[in-house]
Amino acid sequence: MNADDIQTIAVLGAGNMGHGIAEVAAMAGYDVNLRDINEEFVQNGYDQIEWSLGKLADNDQLSEEEADAALDRITPLVEMSEAVSDVDVVIEAVPEKMDIKQDVYGDVEEYAPDRAILASNTSSLSITDLSEVTERPEQFCGMHFFNPPVRMQLVEVISGAHTADETLEAIEDLSESFGKTPVRVRKDEPGFIVNRVLVPLMNEACWIVSEDDATMAEVDSTVKYDIGLPMGAFELGDQVGNDVTYHVLEYMYETLGEAYEPAPLLEEVVEEERYGKKSGEGFYDYENGDGADVPTDEGREDVKHRLLATMANEVGNLVGQDVAPPRDIDQAVMLGAGYPDGPAKMADEAGLDTLVETLEDLHDETGAARYEVSDGLREAAEEGGFHGADDEDTVEFTTVSLEYPGDQVGQIVLDREARMNTISTDMLDELADAVDVLEDDDDVRAILITGKGDRAFSAGADVSAFASSAEPLTGIELSRKGQRTFGKLEESPLPVVAGIDGFALGGGLELAACADLRIASDRSELGLPEHSLGLIPGWGGTQRLQRIVGFGRAKEIVFTSDRYDAETMYDYDFVNEVVPFGEFEEKAHDLAAKMARGPPVSQKLTKRTMLRGWEDPDAGLELEAQSFGHLLGTDDLMEGITAFMGDRDPEFEGK
Ligand code: NAD
Repeated sequence: MNADDIQTIAVLGAGNMGHGIAEVAAMAGYDVNLRDINEEFVQNGYDQIEWSLGKLADNDQLSEEEADAALDRITPLVEMSEAVSDVDVVIEAVPEKMDIKQDVYGDVEEYAPDRAILASNTSSLSITDLSEVTERPEQFCGMHFFNPPVRMQLVEVISGAHTADETLEAIEDLSESFGKTPVRVRKDEPGFIVNRVLVPLMNEACWIVSEDDATMAEVDSTVKYDIGLPMGAFELGDQVGNDVTYHVLEYMYETLGEAYEPAPLLEEVVEEERYGKKSGEGFYDYENGDGADVPTDEGREDVKHRLLATMANEVGNLVGQDVAPPRDIDQAVMLGAGYPDGPAKMADEAGLDTLVETLEDLHDETGAARYEVSDGLREAAEEGGFHGADDEDTVEFTTVSLEYPGDQVGQIVLDREARMNTISTDMLDELADAVDVLEDDDDVRAILITGKGDRAFSAGADVSAFASSAEPLTGIELSRKGQRTFGKLEESPLPVVAGIDGFALGGGLELAACADLRIASDRSELGLPEHSLGLIPGWGGTQRLQRIVGFGRAKEIVFTSDRYDAETMYDYDFVNEVVPFGEFEEKAHDLAAKMARGPPVSQKLTKRTMLRGWEDPDAGLELEAQSFGHLLGTDDLMEGITAFMGDRDPEFEGK
């Protein structure tokens, strides 16, 4: 089964997760059979989908017609035979009990066609064990959504011991077509990626308080304002549900041993049924108290090190056991838990040697198994960091080149001068890699993208190369590939400047649209010629351009296929600055250098908040509040204020 062949999906279980997954699938255009054990439950899930689609339409994130069409694609069902007999994929989201899931897969096997892929949304059960109760373990994998599926971007796609590569690829593609970001979990280890980092961190926070080493207020203040996570550890625990955390931890304790022994404080809240917000009380009291009221200034350095060391140790476990490389771990935890930076990156910044020492000291003091340094952490420390280890294989580029013109600017030059810097599939791959290289370089604070030579920034997609390639991509694949690469630039934590000199046409203009700022020489010509070829802009052009120039102008540019000069594109708000050709190089560099002097954390958080808010204004406002709170605790804010008072330019360090 290939992702393009997927048309119909069964979602089993219409509860919390099941109804959300069905909604996401239907919005992406799939026919969905939603199944629960009785009419009432399945209707309840269906009603929740209807309510949620209505809310999305009220917020203009979907038109009324799209919401109605999505709902029409969902068929609520109770009979398993009807639900799965003609589907391409089955996504199972029934209660987290092995015996229930086992029964469900027994029924699925009876009725589902041989072609169907089976994917489980389980948070903590073994994918391998589940796959073995089916007759198609190679067509079985984990597809772990985060709550609520409509809002959360991450899907962990988990390989069981028997899962075939093509099953993983199909489910990753499917996740992408749902508009989600899949991260592959290469081995079926308890907690997968996100929970494997979060749950032991939560447990360590509890151990610190259980052992009277710090108060809850001190721990949460440290986590929220010194480490800079979106919520305090106990605050997050209460939000997730302490029973849920405990359940995952217990499974780790059973399967991975002593190091995951639950802390007495966690056991206590669960025994007393203080599950968190949902039960009115958890670590904090939400009914009779003020809820989670985390002080801004009670953070402690020793607590910070202890928690970062715990986190680094788990990243070490994941890397060492080849569950995922540091980059994927970072991406998963940022998307799945809203961390401002990935845990591997945070650990690198704290210094792995220091964190190893912290663990060793704690181990000497207490003898506790959880402080034994993982092999992966030790190795990464020797190699100078998790990301240091990542860069072993330095990337060789042929279609782009990287330049470092000074002032902490990293420049990506589109380097196919003879072909007017047109964009080939190789260039898409290399662009994505080049962004990674610059993001990982501590000496780079802003990205500048330009074209080689004096004719074009980029004259668009290299259509002839696509057609003649040995293994041509389908149109859909090609569009998605470009969307992914360009999306990476748009989502880069670094400010991105496009320096346009000459033609920026089609894909070239779409690439420039991913930058935060655009500067153009006065001889540049920009446009989207796709309609004149009988195509549509396929690398985000139908979406990004309208955000920048507005709906009306975007339609004009697409529908006319005209070429516009730089001045007109300045009037249309696409280009931020037009400069004489003779000054272009210097001015483009100056603009990027100015961005590089800006406050890195504010820039990163502003980018993320604006982007998220575009998709979902409520989520954007929430992220804005969290970011604001986070920035209040940074050194850069102190530096900004001090420089302002002293009437000098600030020197931000990104801390
Ligand atoms: P839930 O209890 O809200 O929903 C489960 C639904 O499955 C219920 O409506 C139940 O009636 C139904 N069900 C029971 N037996 C069934 C059967 N034989 N066939 C079809 N439906 C059946 O649970 P949930 O929170 O949606 O969790 C479902 C799965 O998703 C679990 O594996 C859980 O670990 C996982 N998960 C949950 C979250 C979360 O935050 N809640 C996040 C990620 C993954």
